[in-house]
Amino acid sequence: MRLKSLDIHGFKSFADKTKLEFHEGVTGIVGPNGCGKSNIVDAMRWVLGETSAKALRGGEMADVIFNGTDRRAPLGMAEVSLTLTGCSGVLETDYDEVAIGRRVYRDGKGEYLINKQPCRLKDIQNLLMGTGIGRSSYSIMEQGKIDMLLSSKPEDRRMVFEEAAGITKYKSQKKEALRKLDYTEANLVRIRDVIAENERQIRSLSRQASKAKRFQGLFSDVKTLELHLHHKQWREFRAEKSELSTSIKNLVIEQDGLEESIEQRQAEMAAARVEYQEIEAKLSDLQSGIAQLENEISTARNRVAFNEERAGELQQLIDKNSAALTETEEKRTRQQESINRSEEILNAANEELAAREETVVEAEKACQESRVQRESLSERLAELEVERSNAKSRLATIEATLS
Ligand code: ATP
Ligand code: MG
Repeated sequence: MRLKSLDIHGFKSFADKTKLEFHEGVTGIVGPNGCGKSNIVDAMRWVLGETSAKALRGGEMADVIFNGTDRRAPLGMAEVSLTLTGCSGVLETDYDEVAIGRRVYRDGKGEYLINKQPCRLKDIQNLLMGTGIGRSSYSIMEQGKIDMLLSSKPEDRRMVFEEAAGITKYKSQKKEALRKLDYTEANLVRIRDVIAENERQIRSLSRQASKAKRFQGLFSDVKTLELHLHHKQWREFRAEKSELSTSIKNLVIEQDGLEESIEQRQAEMAAARVEYQEIEAKLSDLQSGIAQLENEISTARNRVAFNEERAGELQQLIDKNSAALTETEEKRTRQQESINRSEEILNAANEELAAREETVVEAEKACQESRVQRESLSERLAELEVERSNAKSRLATIEATLS
């Protein structure tokens, strides 16, 4: 069995579909740095089921898809197919040529293929087990791997030799068988647990059954006892019932008495209500009387205030009239004096008449004039007297009103 060809499309730097043929005698690929030699090894490792992006020198799985250059747009899918020839008899397959393929898309979805038929990764691993071909087997020794192997632990080195000796397959079968044995052992333990649990349940159920039997016996005893008890209670209730019916009769009589007294009380209440209404009516009359008296008081107060004002005015009038009276009195005195003087003059004139006959007529005339004047003054005096008496009577009236 040998590697025949490798088809790469969209994987890392292989944007174009590329077919690498490994003819007989091909022992190496040479090229300048960065031309893609390691990418070929990565493609082989990836198609054989590598799941670690780090092992493929990337950050995530989608990094293996061609992600474009200055002149070329990125692709959406990477596909690698590895063809082995001379397989029949070496691998568990009827075909002489086996093509192992893998595809991945940008959204993370992907698939594995054997001879273009979709399959599981496990199928590929089973197919190649023990041949030394595999993502972590000795057939792929990338840059620096040999150094790492030489300096690694003896167990890791042993794995490489075991793979080369072709016993990995049997070891993994042994591992699988041991795993199954463990699983069966665990199942056995579980079954033993279930049996123990069932036995425990059986014991508990038999305990419960004997309890149930005891319960049935006790239950029939309880029933008999209950019957006796109910009979006794029935007799007691009957006696109590007759007692109660007697007391009900007494209560009915008492109730009749109470109803009568209620009626009496109600009549009393009605009378009291009528009385109360009368009192209320009286009260409202009294209240209206009070209101009326209050009105009268306020009217009387107003009248007193008015009379006081009027008294003030009349006092002023009295004062004025008193002054006029005094003045009139003075005037009368003056006129009396003047009368006296006139009389004196008259006397003098009479004397002069006696003395002077010729001037008698003149004197009599003057006397006559004086007399006329005196009469008018007397009249005026009489008037003033009347006025004074009037004023006096008015003053008396005002004083009476004031008191
Ligand atoms: P060296 O001799 O130094 O080991 P090499 O021949 O092994 O070099 P590789 O490491 O195989 O070179 O290839 C590196 C090249 O692949 C780089 O130029 C890098 O840009 C390119 N490359 C890696 N991944 C991608 C990708 N997803 N899309 C496009 N180009 C990629
Ligand atoms: Mg390299």
